[in-house]
Amino acid sequence: MSQDLVGHYIGGRSVVEGDRRGQVFNPALGEVVREVCFADADIVGAAVDAAESAQSGWGEESLARRQRVMFSYRDILQNNSRRIVDAIGEEHGKVSGDAAGEFARGLEVVEFACSLPQVLKGQYSESVSRGVDAYSVRFPLGVVAGITPFNFPAMVPLWMAPIALAAGNGFVLKPSEKVPSAALVLAELFVEAGGPPGLFNVVQGDQEAVGEILAHPKIKAVSFVGSTAVARSIYERGTQAGKRVQALGGAKNHMVVLPDADPDLVSDSAVAAAFGSSGERCMAISVMVIVGEHGDDYLDAIAAKMENVRVGSALDARAEMGPLITAAHRERVGSLVGQAESMGAKILVDGRNHPMAQGPGFFFGPTLIDGVTSEMEAYKQEIFGPVLLVMRAADLTDAIELVNRNPYANGAAIFTESGGAARRFVRSIDSGMVGVNVPIPVPVAYHSFGGFKNSLFGDTHVHGEEGFRFYTRAKAITQRWAGEGSTATLHFVTNN
Ligand code: NAD
Repeated sequence: MSQDLVGHYIGGRSVVEGDRRGQVFNPALGEVVREVCFADADIVGAAVDAAESAQSGWGEESLARRQRVMFSYRDILQNNSRRIVDAIGEEHGKVSGDAAGEFARGLEVVEFACSLPQVLKGQYSESVSRGVDAYSVRFPLGVVAGITPFNFPAMVPLWMAPIALAAGNGFVLKPSEKVPSAALVLAELFVEAGGPPGLFNVVQGDQEAVGEILAHPKIKAVSFVGSTAVARSIYERGTQAGKRVQALGGAKNHMVVLPDADPDLVSDSAVAAAFGSSGERCMAISVMVIVGEHGDDYLDAIAAKMENVRVGSALDARAEMGPLITAAHRERVGSLVGQAESMGAKILVDGRNHPMAQGPGFFFGPTLIDGVTSEMEAYKQEIFGPVLLVMRAADLTDAIELVNRNPYANGAAIFTESGGAARRFVRSIDSGMVGVNVPIPVPVAYHSFGGFKNSLFGDTHVHGEEGFRFYTRAKAITQRWAGEGSTATLHFVTNN
């Protein structure tokens, strides 16, 4: 990426307009690398008009033609993966293996979207009454929008766009203003794949652009992914404006470890799931709950593995963990660690002292804290940094109650060799995504992603068949043809 000013992508072309701009950092350097235009009402209006006009033809296209474009989109994305991975590395800071992993998971959603003729098949009931048949089919909504967070610049937009487009809609994406470039590549490549210009638009910006999206009467549905406070507000404002809304929020994911768990699997999983992407994942493990008295061996193994985590920039091919997104966020993570320490928690590994944390980049070293209690802010808040909290529970019941008291409910995992304990955990845990000896149980593209409670506002999860349901509406048709026994009656019709 080299341009100094990132614009919007509307009607199949780049649009650089508007006086309001934001700064885009390279977090590994701690430097501004470019600016980004911020959309106003006119820009959002232009994107919606472009989407509406392209959608009218696209919604009429055969399923086969739409499917072919999606197949071609999949291949073109794959062939351009380097552009996307590099944009993620520069603006987000995650290391290249991690950026490639996020891209691969996003691509799987495009692959799933290629199954559109199968998923959009309707249902048919013959002879529901004498001479009468009934069927239901799903139609696109029209123009729909996505608003996405900084932490997955490609994967989260790809949770939404492929399904919305495959289902026959026009799409307006508002990516995070901190990582504006990857989204542009996704939209440009859709046109290269044969998608109609204007069907997939990108408007850059901050909360003003979001407000315009929520207020626009032609946008029928909004998918949002971001922090809980914003998700709640988007859900309230969007539904009040008569839109369909799915708003995924923050998380506090627990990993419950029973005494019979495999020790190597536990320590490897804890390190990978807590510190991968610097903990800036909505499915990162934030809290390890050790059940029983067996914890110290695990903590020694985890601390030893943490010493070997190589912290560095996306340009360092051997780096495993990059920086945090902003200087302010690093401050906040440091202050939550300090507050836990002052309330008596024991800092076993202190990321504030990591050599990389002393430089101009926004790095923070892996941190392990034992003796955490539920009164500490580090436990109450989503930290979204490379900090693993350790808590203790007397037994599985105690652990399940602890997890279920937490207001977030995205993911939860259990580590055990006992099938009975795992089954009990799966059934009684109040989280949308559950792992059994899997620390980050992100569902594959053909299942759906989403949590409960403060981690999701709305009732539909993203991608999978629920994704197609979110971006379509069903019509139920009851039909009769002349000569098939029609009789007029003023009574309410029965089907006997
Ligand atoms: P954020 O809420 O700050 O921003 C998300 C989007 O909302 C961005 O596009 C941003 O421009 C916009 N926005 C920010 N403030 C706004 C406001 N006041 N009004 C309207 N729009 C606003 O989130 P973030 O910091 O970019 O991302 C990190 C958060 O996202 C974390 O809380 C993380 O858990 C969450 N997240 C959740 C999931 C999930 O699936 N549940 C996935 C990824 C990230």
